[in-house]
Amino acid sequence: MTKPVRTRFAPSPTGYMHIGGMRTALFNWLFARHHAGEFVLRIDDTDRARNMDEALEPILQSFRWLGLNWDEGPEIGGSVGPYFQSERDEYYTQACNTLLQQGKAFYDFTPPEQTKIERETAEKEKRNYLNNRNDQNLSEQEIRSRIERGEKYVIRFLVPRESERKIVIDDAVRGRVEFDPSQMPDPVIMRADGTPLYNFACVIDDAEMRISHVIRAEEHLSNTPVQAMLYEALGYDRPVFAHIPYVAAPGTKEKLSKRKLEKYRKSPQFKKLFEAADFIFPLLGLENRGGLDPVMVEYYEQIGYLPEAVLNALARLGWSLDDQTEIMSLDTIVKNFSLNRVVKSPAGFDPEKLLSFQAHWMAEVPAEEKRKRCRDYLKRAGMDNSKTEDERLELVIQAVGDRLVLFSDILKFQEFFTEDDQIEYEAKAFKKRIVKPENAVELLVKLADDLEQASVQSSGEFDRVVHEFVEQQEIQIGQIIHALRVAITGKAAGVGLFDAMAILGKESCVARIRRAIQQGKSEQGGQEIRQNG
Ligand code: GLU
Repeated sequence: MTKPVRTRFAPSPTGYMHIGGMRTALFNWLFARHHAGEFVLRIDDTDRARNMDEALEPILQSFRWLGLNWDEGPEIGGSVGPYFQSERDEYYTQACNTLLQQGKAFYDFTPPEQTKIERETAEKEKRNYLNNRNDQNLSEQEIRSRIERGEKYVIRFLVPRESERKIVIDDAVRGRVEFDPSQMPDPVIMRADGTPLYNFACVIDDAEMRISHVIRAEEHLSNTPVQAMLYEALGYDRPVFAHIPYVAAPGTKEKLSKRKLEKYRKSPQFKKLFEAADFIFPLLGLENRGGLDPVMVEYYEQIGYLPEAVLNALARLGWSLDDQTEIMSLDTIVKNFSLNRVVKSPAGFDPEKLLSFQAHWMAEVPAEEKRKRCRDYLKRAGMDNSKTEDERLELVIQAVGDRLVLFSDILKFQEFFTEDDQIEYEAKAFKKRIVKPENAVELLVKLADDLEQASVQSSGEFDRVVHEFVEQQEIQIGQIIHALRVAITGKAAGVGLFDAMAILGKESCVARIRRAIQQGKSEQGGQEIRQNG
């Protein structure tokens, strides 16, 4: 009988969810769902110094946001818990004692300084480092008395070096991989304080939790032979291993890493993501949230990506459905996921592709949901007023069209949601379009008067009034529309001018033009004084 499929993701609680880690988690989740199996979340918290809530919550939140539910783990428990390694000491101690009793592990009192020298000597002599086994045959009594004397020790697993046998891993992604145990040092499995090392805890947990497939980053491939030996020594069945390629930074073969953020800032592929963050996060009061960067899943949540787009992009990091399909719903991915189509070479994270997925999935969002999500951003940026009600919001969303790629993009069009006397003018545009041209202020005065008299509502009507004005004044259209745009929106560019006017309505337009006139005059006054003085 084949074993039921059970996969797991075992993050260390680091305070954030790395894009690469999320992709590993997703593959585990997909594999479990595809096979109607179970997905376990286990917390690798053998390093116990951290504040657990702070360190874990962002990780769980990333799972919740993407809709990747876990069947067992934090918050929900399960039948083979606890799911925090820090609570599983008894399992590790027990397994360690078994190995000691069977002579498969030993107390090693070699002082760390000596180990260091042995390592360096091996390095110099260009041979593999193998630890000494001087303490392998100490009597129980001797061990006890040395511990009582306060001597430091570790417990090492005794690698069956003398066996001729190679360790063979039939990796579901990488194929057959062989390791030679005669060249392997005995790994430490327990520290003197009773805490287990990763390789040891991992094997016991995966076995006790009946994990059938260990799908993890390829950097763990080098741990796998030790783990395979531990499975055997402890009498457990081995799971299937699948080592998936790492996620590379855009346009490189280098692993995507938080340590390289400064470099990414300057890379053309990442530029847009950082620019968006620099603009949007301060508006949301998130600029001080110590590192909310594009290597973290939370960045995408906070800045207004859709989970569908991020899932689509993550799934394509090293896996493909066929040679052409790019856009895939989570259902489609679950239905088609297999380890056979996971590649061995690094998978390049591509922000542009993610953005194109986002544009696709954004177009599928129903109008009401779009309004709601945009309104959330406006509220978070302090714009919670009658202008953000459905009617205006809908008009703005329509006028903005496919320039609304992220929900937070609505914040680039704040001018429709601020009070008339609070419009901020882009200084350069204001000077160029209103202060500098000889008769811009004068024309705006006349246009404001004309508008006030007219009965205008629709975009077409504003268009007509402005064109009539141009004819009457015998000017070029360019002499008024740029000044007009800056006057009513504060900006040099944006949605169609007449659409903007219709959204704002006649009264707002007139009020805004009059305010710009005032400001224009005062700046011109300042200029004259400077010129004359
Ligand atoms: N906590 C380990 C890591 O983050 C888990 C490795 C594994 O999946 O075995 O890399």
